[in-house]
Amino acid sequence: MTALKRPQPRYDVLKIPGLGPLLRWRWGRLVIQTILLLIAVLLLYDGFTGPQFAPENLSTVVTWIHYRGIIVFGFLLLGNIFCMGCPFTIPRTLAKRLAINGGRWPSFLRNKWLAIGLLFGFFWAYEYFDLFASPLLTVWIIAAYFVASFFLEAIFSESVFCKYVCPLGTFNFVSSTISPFQITVEDRDICSSCTGKECINGTTQIGVAGNPVKQGQGMISLDSIQVLGCGTELFAPQIESNLDCTLCLDCARACPHENVILGARNPLKETSEGAWPQRWDISILVLVFTFSALGNAFGMVGPVFELEAWLANVLNVKDEALPLLIIFGVTNLILPIGLGLLAAWLSRTIAGRTESLRVSLARYVPSLAPLAFSIWLAHYGGFHFLGSAAAISPVFKNFMQDHNLTFLGQPDWTQAAVLPINWLDPLEMAVILIGLLASLYVLNQRGNLAPDQRDGMLVQLPWMLILVGLTLASFWIFYLPMEMRGVSFTG
Ligand code: SF4
Ligand code: SF4
Repeated sequence: MTALKRPQPRYDVLKIPGLGPLLRWRWGRLVIQTILLLIAVLLLYDGFTGPQFAPENLSTVVTWIHYRGIIVFGFLLLGNIFCMGCPFTIPRTLAKRLAINGGRWPSFLRNKWLAIGLLFGFFWAYEYFDLFASPLLTVWIIAAYFVASFFLEAIFSESVFCKYVCPLGTFNFVSSTISPFQITVEDRDICSSCTGKECINGTTQIGVAGNPVKQGQGMISLDSIQVLGCGTELFAPQIESNLDCTLCLDCARACPHENVILGARNPLKETSEGAWPQRWDISILVLVFTFSALGNAFGMVGPVFELEAWLANVLNVKDEALPLLIIFGVTNLILPIGLGLLAAWLSRTIAGRTESLRVSLARYVPSLAPLAFSIWLAHYGGFHFLGSAAAISPVFKNFMQDHNLTFLGQPDWTQAAVLPINWLDPLEMAVILIGLLASLYVLNQRGNLAPDQRDGMLVQLPWMLILVGLTLASFWIFYLPMEMRGVSFTG
């Protein structure tokens, strides 16, 4: 791999008056987490006790329309904003305070394979169980998240839930690779002479017995006032990528020299350069993330229902579990991995190299990320959020009325779209086209990472064909009538 260029941040979010001090403040993250925790409690309450008709329940509307829409816009404007305020990590912090954490995550699981499997399983379960249509199932998932996060973080010393398990976090990590901000440091010379490396080790504090308590790898104990180091074990001066960064800002709080910044960058810089490890699991994750953007949208259009019915007939099964597993297995696993390996092999053959397929794949797979994100953005941000976000008004008024609070007035169930519905198709197409152009730019830039000489157009052709094919397939899917989901009326 060629030598990495150091990030040159032009703007630091942590220096914004008011916001910067709040984010750096020891309790800053907890303030954001508490707000999200209260929202989560409200969703749990309405999901368990409220109307079990999805378009009238806060849990389904907020989870499947607002949460997904807001996070994709968040990636575009700032970065991994959900992980930053993730309420699931509050019990994690409690678990660490109870000091019952200890062991290291097993080495054979220190990769993305489990997260890839869970991400695939989540997309399958979303369709099979119609999660978008069930307030009860939606809140059981939220509850399961709290429990899983607590136990994993209690048992293991690092943030294993965030780094190796959480499917939402995995989705967020890949999405944030196109974000305009990244954790880095202001002055690398300060880091060179820094002895404590508190950004990763946490702070050294005085315990209640007066003994210094060394905080390592995010470990804390009850008798100390501590500041955590990076839970996902990233070392601020070496960070080149948003992969694995939860934007928790623990590093910024822990650094005694205030040297950590959340700096602006070219959103295509990370994918254009050799910022990612050349690992099979990372490359396969990006392929699955990319093709799942299409598979997820495909699950909501007419042809998939016909395909499911045909497969059920051929397999002689009544339940849609197996047909759906086969369809998603092909669209979200077999196709991406097969096409990715084929493109890597073709590109390597055309270039006449003898390098491993892993290296060939890792060289060009990051070029998929901008297009993949644009398809998710068009789907979650464009179609669902802009097409349905105003539905929160009648749903919330209805919730209040159910609890004898009528001062907000009657719900108007015709409220749903934020923009006129007929604007959505052109908007989605424009977003995807911009994503394609960004991916082609990244592909071209990555030609410079070739070990001997710059790769020409012919070497990159297999990847160009994948990008264009994905774009055409997404146009086809997005122009088909799609289930709006989560609203009873679309204005
Ligand atoms: S970021 Fe801060 S704590 Fe980390 S090495 Fe640099 S100066 Fe030390
Ligand atoms: S502590 Fe680690 S995960 Fe949190 S913001 Fe810093 S680098 Fe990212």
